[in-house]
Amino acid sequence: MKPSTLRIGYRYRPNRLAQAYDAIVIGSGMGGLTTAALLSELGWRVCVLEQHYTAGGYTHSYERNGYEWDVGVHYIGDVGTQTRTRKMFDFLSGGKLEWAPMADEYDRFYVGDRIFNAMAGKQAFRDNLVRQFPQDTAAIDAYMDLLRKVGRALSDLGMEKVLRPWQRKLAAPVMKLRTPGFMYRSTYDVLSGLTQNRDLIATLCGQWGDMGLPPKQSAFMVHAMIARHYLYGGFYPVGGSWRIADSIIPKIQEAGGEVFTYAQVARILVEDDKVTGVEMADGHQIDCTTVISSAGIANTFESLLPAGVAEQHGYASKLSAVRPSFAHLGVYIGLQGTAEELGLPRTNFWIYPNNDYDAAVEAFVNDRHAEFPVVYISFPSAKDPDYLNRHPGTATIEIVAPAPYEWFEPWKGTTWGKRGEDYEAFKKQLGERLMRHLYDKLPQLEGRVDYYEVSTPLSTEWFAAYRHGELYGLDHTVERFRQDWLGPRTLIPGLWLTGQDTLTCGVTGAMMSGLLTTMAMVGMRRMGPLMKRIYS
Ligand SMILES: Cc1cc2nc3c(=O)[nH]c(=O)nc-3n(C[C@H](O)[C@H](O)[C@H](O)COP(=O)(O)OP(=O)(O)OC[C@H]3O[C@@H](n4cnc5c(N)ncnc54)[C@H](O)[C@@H]3O)c2cc1C
Repeated sequence: MKPSTLRIGYRYRPNRLAQAYDAIVIGSGMGGLTTAALLSELGWRVCVLEQHYTAGGYTHSYERNGYEWDVGVHYIGDVGTQTRTRKMFDFLSGGKLEWAPMADEYDRFYVGDRIFNAMAGKQAFRDNLVRQFPQDTAAIDAYMDLLRKVGRALSDLGMEKVLRPWQRKLAAPVMKLRTPGFMYRSTYDVLSGLTQNRDLIATLCGQWGDMGLPPKQSAFMVHAMIARHYLYGGFYPVGGSWRIADSIIPKIQEAGGEVFTYAQVARILVEDDKVTGVEMADGHQIDCTTVISSAGIANTFESLLPAGVAEQHGYASKLSAVRPSFAHLGVYIGLQGTAEELGLPRTNFWIYPNNDYDAAVEAFVNDRHAEFPVVYISFPSAKDPDYLNRHPGTATIEIVAPAPYEWFEPWKGTTWGKRGEDYEAFKKQLGERLMRHLYDKLPQLEGRVDYYEVSTPLSTEWFAAYRHGELYGLDHTVERFRQDWLGPRTLIPGLWLTGQDTLTCGVTGAMMSGLLTTMAMVGMRRMGPLMKRIYS
């Protein structure tokens, strides 16, 4: 296992670049790395440029004061058996990525003063719901049936993104027939058609934080996608989330490519309406006629492309149909004592003030002193069987909660670590509020916390380059999923897109976006044999 720093990738310097690359990828998150690794497998020499000091995007980990935390990976579903998701992770990592199962009770929902939960395994999940809501058995079975129906339609929608616009037009009537209309309704709309039991709806939507929108605002298709994803339980990458990028990068390097860190792209260069390369923040230009951006839709069209180019192709008006997702606070906690000694579970906690999630979000947005509409607590050192080998005698906890970006705008543009006393005081106050939730649920931890620090949406902007501190890129509204321009292809020859904004959020969503982007770029004739190898 790698020692200490967890910094992966190779520090960018112009003189470290190869003479020429077949493609440049902007951003080293799961979307960018997957695209780069698959292209590398097909013999391309790919240069991945990452602005942060380490590779991995939201899958990176960091260390401070002898503790190690993940920033954007708490659990991943669908990797316990040889599923397509698992096979793809195995292929990308050369089989080096291992997964540790969480407890059977992988999610626990504290809804006001009541407790509900989700259990691993499709039948166990259903039976557990029936145990909690025996009077709603028919609604629960109808719900399970909807999840089943959504499965096929979700893979159709993915494949549709690969098609050229004319192929899409041809396929449209068939797609319409194959796509159930309820996928494009709000989650609440669909669920309230099955039951009026607000506690059951709250339990089914207990994972809304996994895509950032409460049930009245989110598209049912993304709710169903997440519910299906975790149906067989949650899994954690052994060795920490940084192992994801660490195990994929060699595939890119073996083909002659590289993943550079401290490598901020300032502009995508376009001449005669075609991509010709990128200009780095240091002014150095890298020529390349194929550029794949995983930096997010807003970054790509609003700041990386020359303004005239994005406007000319109508992207400015297209962007008005989508909006950034909510921003968040993170609390990163270090404790002396092991997870076992401290009684930390391998279960995620979701804490809600009551069972009306939408009303709670609205109250919070209007009044920063209102209760947090959701507080999520994760126990990474308890989930990772390798943690104690790296950090003996210690344990970690992470808390995530929403916070509007606007609260932090007064400090926008200031430098990380030097934002001033008023900012620190505000952070302290928010951190203390969130810590109270932790002590309320696990009182044995009072006095056992050795260290904690709070991140804000400005930290997300600083380290992950999301301009509004977005938790999940674009918001997962119904309207977003109606935008057929959100996919791998752009109207600018040589420019491709990948990452969560082109499909859905989640490490697996971003990974699948990388697969779709590669498919769209190279075509099925070249991709077919590779997919056979991945999925054999
Ligand atoms: C707090 C939190 C918890 C989460 N928990 C989970 C979870 O438990 N399970 C799960 O599956 N998903 C989770 N997610 C979501 C998941 O992490 C993301 O959806 C996914 O990793 C996004 O991958 P991506 O490649 O699209 O984007 P990113 O990982 O954001 O990668 C984009 C990269 O582009 C880089 N970049 C941007 N602009 C430039 C530029 N100009 N030059 C160079 N580089 C640039 C950024 O620095 C970044 O590294 C969580 C996310 C957060 C924030």
